[in-house]
Amino acid sequence: MAVTAADIADAARRLKGHVVRTPLARATRLSAELGLDIRVKPETLQETGTFKIRGATNAVMQLSPEDRSSGVITVSSGNHGPALAAAATKLGVRCTVCLSTMVPANKVENVRLFGGHPHIAGGEFDEAAREAERLAAETGAVMIPPFDHPDVLAGAGTVGHEIMQDWPEVDVVIAPLSGGGLLGGVAIAMKTAKPGARVIGVSMERGAVMHASLAAGQPIELPEEQSLADALGGGIGLDNQWTFEPVRDLVDETLLVPEGLIAEGMRRLFLDQGLVAEGAGAVGISALLRGGLVEPGAKIAVVISGRNVGKAALMEVLGKA
Ligand SMILES: *Cc1c(COP(=O)(O)O)cnc(C)c1O
Repeated sequence: MAVTAADIADAARRLKGHVVRTPLARATRLSAELGLDIRVKPETLQETGTFKIRGATNAVMQLSPEDRSSGVITVSSGNHGPALAAAATKLGVRCTVCLSTMVPANKVENVRLFGGHPHIAGGEFDEAAREAERLAAETGAVMIPPFDHPDVLAGAGTVGHEIMQDWPEVDVVIAPLSGGGLLGGVAIAMKTAKPGARVIGVSMERGAVMHASLAAGQPIELPEEQSLADALGGGIGLDNQWTFEPVRDLVDETLLVPEGLIAEGMRRLFLDQGLVAEGAGAVGISALLRGGLVEPGAKIAVVISGRNVGKAALMEVLGKA
């Protein structure tokens, strides 16, 4: 079983009016400087600040009345939690979010802001994930994980579906990569509609589990490290069911960017596009700034996946401009 472009098209219909239909905005200064035609898709405009609202909403809307009354539970590196909380709360569903102590405080607060119940458990993502599994078994709450779930994958794929609708001439799509819900979903949508388009995933150098798993030929684990791109941290699950295969089979290339370039990507989005992006949201721009990734003149859509950076971290990055 696998998620198809038809599932993504269904998700797009379901999400209409429930999440923001984001535009593709020209990045003129960066395009001129790099000799490319770059457009950015600002998922930063979503209510919870990230594309994660797409998958969360697509999943919660399909729960049976019985499942809704049991409540939902998840583990989050900080952005899926608030998204699931927002989607669940709007439908009157109780939402518990397990987070590790590595999750920045602004993101824990966001879970509360959007109506969820944060539960701090463990020093890293994989420990918080085990606690969520335990609580789900104990309470009967329905687990809606951050990426490894067909409805979450299909919801994230609507990002690619919209890029194809808005810019069918696109040559290359670049998206951030952690568990692969976003990139896997985008790749399914893109490669079905336009097999010749290149799909590229970008992760941070520090603890890029999917990148290492692709090299190993199977899901593996790595220790989690601090990074400006904190939303890209965490494992993909040794028993990954839904995202490893589409990323392995459909994505043309994955690459890693260092911390300095992540900060530079954030600065460029702020100064050139008026967009506040968190580190994870900026890595597509970081990859282009490194140079040599794409043919001169290529039409490139870059997914800016999220904006949830704390004030102190943002000030530090911008202060070095
Ligand atoms: C979750 C997240 C990602 C990575 O998405 P995956 O589906 O886990 O690959 C990228 N950027 C932001 C801002 C996120 O919250």
